[in-house]
Amino acid sequence: MCGSHSRRRFLKAGLSLGGLVLAPQCFAAGEGGRLPRVSLVVLSDTHLGYQGKERAAEQWELTATEVNKVPADLVLHLGDIVDGGREEQYPVYLRTRGKIDKPVHEIPGNHDPAELFEKYIRKPIATVVEHEWLRLLLLGNARRESHDGFLSPAQLAWIEAQSREAKQENRYVALCMHVPAHTNRHPDRGWYIKPEHGQKELYEIVARHQERILCLMHGHFHNGIRGWDDHAPVHEVVFPSALYNKTRRLEEQMAPGYNLPEFRPGFTSLVIERGVMRLRFHPLGAEPSVEKSLSLAQLR
Ligand SMILES: [Zn+2]
Repeated sequence: MCGSHSRRRFLKAGLSLGGLVLAPQCFAAGEGGRLPRVSLVVLSDTHLGYQGKERAAEQWELTATEVNKVPADLVLHLGDIVDGGREEQYPVYLRTRGKIDKPVHEIPGNHDPAELFEKYIRKPIATVVEHEWLRLLLLGNARRESHDGFLSPAQLAWIEAQSREAKQENRYVALCMHVPAHTNRHPDRGWYIKPEHGQKELYEIVARHQERILCLMHGHFHNGIRGWDDHAPVHEVVFPSALYNKTRRLEEQMAPGYNLPEFRPGFTSLVIERGVMRLRFHPLGAEPSVEKSLSLAQLR
């Protein structure tokens, strides 16, 4: 493993050889080339109880069956587990989740009341999931009464502290919050963390730790795979709903960023390998379709 400790040791040894220092292989190749491959399934917006019907629960069953066919280390659910805060749907969700053969980690969406999320899923909501060299920061930024995102000063301080610690531990961060941070006005949804609700402070933290924060990951939109790269090197990606997605014809209308042309319900496999994050859309009941590869400059 090409970590900072071995690097320091090498430099010390090199200096003792009469000032001659050879660059270790890992400097030249980039550390990302040597980090173990990480693979996740990312799903979102299952909305159990949608329209008061069974369909969303049935589709969640189908999703779980298909997730089991995809090799991955863990599963992320990016919020809106149930629809409209329906408490009776959480046990239904958990029964099906129990059939998934990988660890599953959730964040709440605006349809998940915090007290029900804490009762059925996890308390406290904000948590850190470490996998190999990746540190996933999971937090709740949604409120029941709004489609916008909100970050409190305490949450911002937590993100900052976790990112700083990631650097000390030579880990890389993926920040998971239901509502996107990125400004997205018409023809987009218009749902994001508005400047007065923590957006400015969040982007300052992201800029300070841009060598550690690889990506921001969100749900909420039901618009397939949607993303922006204008806070490079940090990627921002909105993931599709496993219940339904709709096109907003964003690419035709020259909206900023990208929106892959796939709007069936589904989930995403995410693989990070050799400094590249590959997203692959798995529509339910069909073969994987569209893909996008994002270069991770931090790992190169
Ligand atoms: Zn939502």
